[in-house]
Amino acid sequence: MTAFRWRAQARSGHARAGYLDTAHGTVATPTFMPVGTVGTVKAMTMDAVRSTGAGIVLGNTYHLMLRPGAERVRALGGLHRFMDWPGPILTDSGGFQVMSLGPLRRLDADGVTFRSHIDGSEHRLTPERSTDIQHALDATISMCFDECPALPAPAEAIARSMRMSMRWAERCRAAFVPRPGYAQYGIIQGGTEPELRAESVRALTDIGFEGYAIGGLAVGEGQELMFSTLDVTVGLIPDDAPRYLMGVGTPDDLLGAVERGVDMFDCVMPTRAGRTARAYTERGTLNMRNARHATDSRPISPHCDCPACSRHSRAYLHHLFRTNEILGPMLLTWHNLSYYQRLMRGIRAAIVDGTLPEHAAHLRAQWAMEDWSPDEMPFPDIPPVP
Ligand SMILES: [Zn+2]
Repeated sequence: MTAFRWRAQARSGHARAGYLDTAHGTVATPTFMPVGTVGTVKAMTMDAVRSTGAGIVLGNTYHLMLRPGAERVRALGGLHRFMDWPGPILTDSGGFQVMSLGPLRRLDADGVTFRSHIDGSEHRLTPERSTDIQHALDATISMCFDECPALPAPAEAIARSMRMSMRWAERCRAAFVPRPGYAQYGIIQGGTEPELRAESVRALTDIGFEGYAIGGLAVGEGQELMFSTLDVTVGLIPDDAPRYLMGVGTPDDLLGAVERGVDMFDCVMPTRAGRTARAYTERGTLNMRNARHATDSRPISPHCDCPACSRHSRAYLHHLFRTNEILGPMLLTWHNLSYYQRLMRGIRAAIVDGTLPEHAAHLRAQWAMEDWSPDEMPFPDIPPVP
């Protein structure tokens, strides 16, 4: 039986490379987790997700409890089997989605009552119910049910919300059934107030979790405030625990957060962008609907080995999106997830090699450049597949 733990391999400043051992396998960190909202990473087969190098994926409690229902997933062998992902799965608590429902939800000290966005039926999530659902799904890593206030908000409101989330964290921990190789993460709240963040870390480490997440960021505060909040928060988390920054972010956000000691990330950006014709590359993003790609026989990126880049031209991707063909979102999601995984592999390797500062400077200089010039990337033709 594998015990759940994070072990360090190398460090560079505050950045760490390591391994996360779980009941469902070991994941190299820092790692990016593709989002599989309703038990599928949209437009991707799980073999395709695996081929990008992803080691762990995310599932959403809110969506899965409504459809198909946690008990049905349990009866069908758990989420790993249901979605064909034997590797580790992290589930969110449903809190973030429920809080985003606005007038469809009613918050009280015990939990949240809400109406389904699908059929208007009434449901309730409490710290206990959220923890039970994540157990029924067989999540490798369960998250605490918490409230995430939108920023900016008065410090007093953020403090009140954070303290309620800490009381809920205690109830989540009491409801969690420990199993070898499984984990539950506490979520640090407190907005961008350093004292509140510190108070939240103390409350959670007093309870004691296998890992700690930084929540309540990337909700409109901007990158500078996000980084300064990480600067005063990450160092307070026990060094031997994995650290997860929730819902972040752009490639530049990931790099900056890794430099500040974060190990795990999730974000819908690469998958959502893939469905809306936006391609991530080493030189920023491209809109594949743009007419300038219509006759471009080059691949999206000369550094990518995904099927979109190794088999197809920019002109073909452009054509697929202009004709609304389903293959466009499929290929571009594959490409974007490949880019995110390659980015994380590169950062990880640089931490291990002791070259992170140079690597980070190189990445940032490349992002600031505009596409590749035809001289740099001539590729007159994509060679035909034999
Ligand atoms: Zn590609």
